[in-house]
Amino acid sequence: MRLENKKALITGAYRGIGKVIADLFIAEGAEVWGLDYKTPEDLSNRVAEAKGKLHWVTADLSEIAAVEGVIENAIKESGGFDILVNNAGITKDNLSFRMSLEEWQKVLDINLSAAFITARTVGRDMIRKRAGSIINMASVVGIHGNGGQANYAASKAGLIGVTKSLAQETASRGVRVNALAPGYIATDMTAVLPDKVKEVMLEKIPLKRMGTPQDIANAALFLASDDSAYITGQVLPVDGGMFI
Ligand code: NAD
Repeated sequence: MRLENKKALITGAYRGIGKVIADLFIAEGAEVWGLDYKTPEDLSNRVAEAKGKLHWVTADLSEIAAVEGVIENAIKESGGFDILVNNAGITKDNLSFRMSLEEWQKVLDINLSAAFITARTVGRDMIRKRAGSIINMASVVGIHGNGGQANYAASKAGLIGVTKSLAQETASRGVRVNALAPGYIATDMTAVLPDKVKEVMLEKIPLKRMGTPQDIANAALFLASDDSAYITGQVLPVDGGMFI
C-alpha cells in the first residue's frame, strides 16, 4: 500500500495506460479522480469495485479556456491532490508537408497546453502544502522525433521542457515533477498502426516485446510514491531498450 491516504488526479483514465494507472493506484491505497472526455459506461461498477475510491470528472481537455476552471473544481471537490498524472494524449499522424493546421493545433492543445495548465493549477495547490508529485506522460518520440509525427513529437518534447522547468520552480517547495517516456505500448492508440510499422518497431526493441500499460503504471507508481523522493526533473524511458 504505497499510496495510502494519497489523492491522485489522473487524466485520460477512461482507457489504455491511464485506466491501468488508476486501477494500480487504487490497489495501492490511493483515492483517485479520473478525468476524461469520455465517461465509462460501467462507472458505477468501477466505483463499487474501487470501494468508493474512484471519482470521475468528465471534461474535454481540448477546450483550453475551460481547463483551469475544471481542475480548480476538482481540487476543491477532493480537498487537493498529492499526485497528478498528466496522461491524456492523442495522435493525428501525417507527413509534415501534408499536415493541416488543425492536425497540428489539436495535438498541441491536448498534449501540451492542457497538460501545462493542469500541471501548474495542481502544482500551485501542492506548493501551498509543500508536497506533491507530478508525472507527465511524454514519449520516446519527444526525445528522438518520428517521421509522420512532427505534431506529436513537438507536443511531447514540449512536455519534457515543461517538466524540467516546473521541477526547477517547485523543488524548493517540496514538489517533484518528472516525465515518463513510454516506447511502443500495446493500447488502442497503437492498435491502429499498419502491421508493417508494428513489425519494424518490434525489431527495434531489444527486450523483444511491446510494452504493456502495466509496465508504464509500475513506473508511474514509482514516481508517484516516496520510493522516488530524491528524483525530480527527470525523464524516465520505459521502452524495452529501444534507444540504448
Ligand atoms: P489511449 O488513446 O488508449 O488513451 C488516451 C486517453 O486520453 C483516453 O482515455 C482518451 O479518452 C483520453 N483523451 C483523449 N483526448 C482527450 C480530451 N480531449 N480530453 C480528455 N481526455 C482525452 O492512449 P494510450 O496509449 O493509453 O496513451 C496514454 C498516454 O501515453 C498518451 O499521452 C500517449 O501519448 C502516451 N504514450 C503512449 C504510447 C503508446 O505506445 N501507447 C507511447 C508513448 C506515449
